[in-house]
Amino acid sequence: MLVSYSMRGEEPVVNEALKTRALPEGSYDYLLEFLRLYRDAVQLVVDKIWGINEKLSWKKLHRLFYSDLISMGFRAHHAKEIYINAKNLMESARGNGGRKPVLRKLSARIDKYDYKLDLDNMTLTLKLHNNYEVKLRLVTPKERVEKFRSWSNYELVVKYEDGEFWVSIYFKRIVKSLNPRTVMAIDLNFGNVTLAIYTLDGRRVRLKKLNTPHKKILTHKIWIEKIQKRYPKSWRFIKGVRKAIEKHGERIKNISWDYAHKTGNTIAKLAFKHNSVIILEDLEKLRENNKKKGRRFNKKLGLWFYRRIQFCIEYEAGERNLEVVKVNPRGTSSKCPRCSGKLVEYGYRVLRCRKCGFIGDRDVTATINIYKKYISKHSRCGVPGVAPNAPKPNENPSGMRGNKDEAMTTSSYMNSYES
Ligand SMILES: [Zn+2]
Repeated sequence: MLVSYSMRGEEPVVNEALKTRALPEGSYDYLLEFLRLYRDAVQLVVDKIWGINEKLSWKKLHRLFYSDLISMGFRAHHAKEIYINAKNLMESARGNGGRKPVLRKLSARIDKYDYKLDLDNMTLTLKLHNNYEVKLRLVTPKERVEKFRSWSNYELVVKYEDGEFWVSIYFKRIVKSLNPRTVMAIDLNFGNVTLAIYTLDGRRVRLKKLNTPHKKILTHKIWIEKIQKRYPKSWRFIKGVRKAIEKHGERIKNISWDYAHKTGNTIAKLAFKHNSVIILEDLEKLRENNKKKGRRFNKKLGLWFYRRIQFCIEYEAGERNLEVVKVNPRGTSSKCPRCSGKLVEYGYRVLRCRKCGFIGDRDVTATINIYKKYISKHSRCGVPGVAPNAPKPNENPSGMRGNKDEAMTTSSYMNSYES
């Protein structure tokens, strides 16, 4: 299942695709004929625009292709989808410096005006070329579609693969702005996931560190590397060796998904309890920021692991109608939350500001910075734009009460240090 988040104006939108097998009632012929015609039409448009170097606006595409496509038997929205599709294909092929795409697969994107979805009866009616219609039965448990009843759907993709039809229906739902009472900042790093909940005026009310299974994952990784080193050329071809590698790979997959699910669940539950908006670092921004990403998002573990955790956090949050916001990770672990000075290492996982003498746990400091990034952008609309209180060097950070498991040895390094 695919989940993604975007903003529509001020409102966050959750998107999710439901993919299911679909069985035409009656003959397959019309739908197959439609898919072939659709593919050939996309190819035709690609062929024609491949040589054009100027930027193609929708208007221009419409002028160039609309009437031709209509005369081929397509409906108005089919035509639109066809040239949008062709344009996207061309742009991504060119972006990769590749050749002109040649389409083989049978797949069509269909606009909401050209289908009717009936979740009560689990059927889908598609409007095809030349005013044909085909009714499909969705082959999936009814419970799976239950939650989508209150969502709106706006588009679908129908595919023909290995003798079967598949549809992916795209749903969306606007997350109600619940006016969060607190902000949960999450810092992902090699050894742990640190979450800190702050009130809107900067007091920390909760702090939790969830250790990652990085040691377990690395052990399996090292095994794989050892085996590959021993059979540098042949490991792919010797069945026993390949099997051994696959076994370790499988373990890594299970351990990481397991952890991601548990973490996503724990975090979303806590956020729900505290009515928090969840703030994550935008991993996509890492590449743009610098090439030193390896330093924090340790290469040994890989970005995929952090992505997986974020995916589960977002999924679980979405299930609970909680808002997730991503902020640029730039500087979150290198800037002083009090004076924006540069932080340097100061003992094990502790950072110190050269300018003002601030000293803090690396992970906790990152959550303060993440929190600040969110607040500085969202201080309007009802949220008082209070400057967050980065702890002063000579006091314990507020909100250190709480469960024992959260109590950290903060006080020891929160004492005053003068530079
Ligand atoms: Zn400072």
